[in-house]
Amino acid sequence: MKATLTGLVIAALVGAAAPAHAAGPGPEGLGDPYYPKAGNGGYDVSHYDLRLDYEPSKDWLQATTTIKLKTTQDLSSVNFDFALPVRSARVNGRDVGFAQHHAELTVSTGGDVAKGQELTVEISYSASPSQSNPDLPPSKWKRTPDGAQAIGAPSVAPWWYPSNDHPSDKATYNISVTVPDGIEAISNGQLVGTTPRGDGKTTWNWASTKPQTTYATFLAIGQYQLHQSYLDGVPLVDAYSEALGDRAAAAKASLDERHLMVGFLEKLLGKYPLDATGALVTPYTSTPLETHTRPSFPASSFRNGPNSFVVAHELAHQWLGNSVTMKYWKDIWLNEGFATYVQWFWSAYKGKGTPQQLANWFYKQYPADHEIWKVAVADPTPQYQYGAAVHERGAMALVALGEAVGDETLRRILNTWVSQKAYGNATTEEFVAHAEKISGRKLGDLFQTWVLKPGKPSSPPAGRTLKADEQEPASVKELHRPY
Ligand SMILES: [Zn+2]
Repeated sequence: MKATLTGLVIAALVGAAAPAHAAGPGPEGLGDPYYPKAGNGGYDVSHYDLRLDYEPSKDWLQATTTIKLKTTQDLSSVNFDFALPVRSARVNGRDVGFAQHHAELTVSTGGDVAKGQELTVEISYSASPSQSNPDLPPSKWKRTPDGAQAIGAPSVAPWWYPSNDHPSDKATYNISVTVPDGIEAISNGQLVGTTPRGDGKTTWNWASTKPQTTYATFLAIGQYQLHQSYLDGVPLVDAYSEALGDRAAAAKASLDERHLMVGFLEKLLGKYPLDATGALVTPYTSTPLETHTRPSFPASSFRNGPNSFVVAHELAHQWLGNSVTMKYWKDIWLNEGFATYVQWFWSAYKGKGTPQQLANWFYKQYPADHEIWKVAVADPTPQYQYGAAVHERGAMALVALGEAVGDETLRRILNTWVSQKAYGNATTEEFVAHAEKISGRKLGDLFQTWVLKPGKPSSPPAGRTLKADEQEPASVKELHRPY
């Protein structure tokens, strides 16, 4: 739908205080260097309430999303990232005008609203979400043989709910999904309950009470077997697709290792930070993703049998990525390099190679003219934002840091980083300052060499402690990527 705000009947001021001077529309993006239009300026979301009704046989979604936000500047309208056609919009309970252009939805606030006001924006829509609009990138809502999935980074939200689609604006969520009886609807957080409606449909209610990013918010509708229990006192829901075939046993064996893993991770990073846990295992995605509380694993993660390393990586992301989140996409090594480092630590715990051995081994694998050295770890470009530059080189940087300050100090740096930045956002500059503060060392040259500049450093990350002729660590074969 395309419309303009002019000419639409706009209700008078919607019960919020007006600014002293005329306000303007909110910016269309947050100025992320990689995705300038991602997210929207002028407000901060505190909560999303999604009420979805999906009919898989017809690929038909009817939904209302309610967004609670606070204005951070004077505004006359708010922008959301959204690709589906909108039916109606309300602000603080009153009908307002709206317009859609490409994947930007502009909702009038019904009059000028001052900075610091709380608004409740209610947006209703219905669509076949898998249908692509020629004006937009291909839909990320994926129909599957048994239902549908909305899983993917950096951006999947615009194909199922309007949002401030940027990692820097995290919020709590309630997600209610109505589907035909006999079909499961899996999402983030705690399973509050399922409500049979008596008309052949059931509503699945999920709640996330810790701040969650849009890219880690997911929905999977289909035939799943649910396993519910607790992991270290935290409510756990695992959902295994019924189409996993013989991969199901390998997936279960891998996820069973979480009982050991969570204690191991808590020693390194502090208490598990979220209010729920679990996993989604599906044959309908191709890469694992740290979906909030409930990471999603493709069946292919277990193609060679059990693999606890991919589980360790995605579980580590619940601290490093989901609790402490990069502020801009270029800082993604703070998620990926750190989760890879923890995974290498898990390798040491399993007796399959230490972080130092793995760091030196990967360093040796990539010749100086290899493309992974062409970008800076802390500015990998959108093309390489999920590549080895942020994963292996990011983890190498932490090994190099450990060599410089000592392993005990490195652990203190990581542990305090996670506790001080919990539930917030962080930048590379903040991590450098934090590492210098905790270690009492000047680390500018080290971060220049390993993180801020492109190019292969002249000596390996663990050059001081390891011989040059180290054998391949045993875990390398299990360290499948991409994660
Ligand atoms: Zn990752």
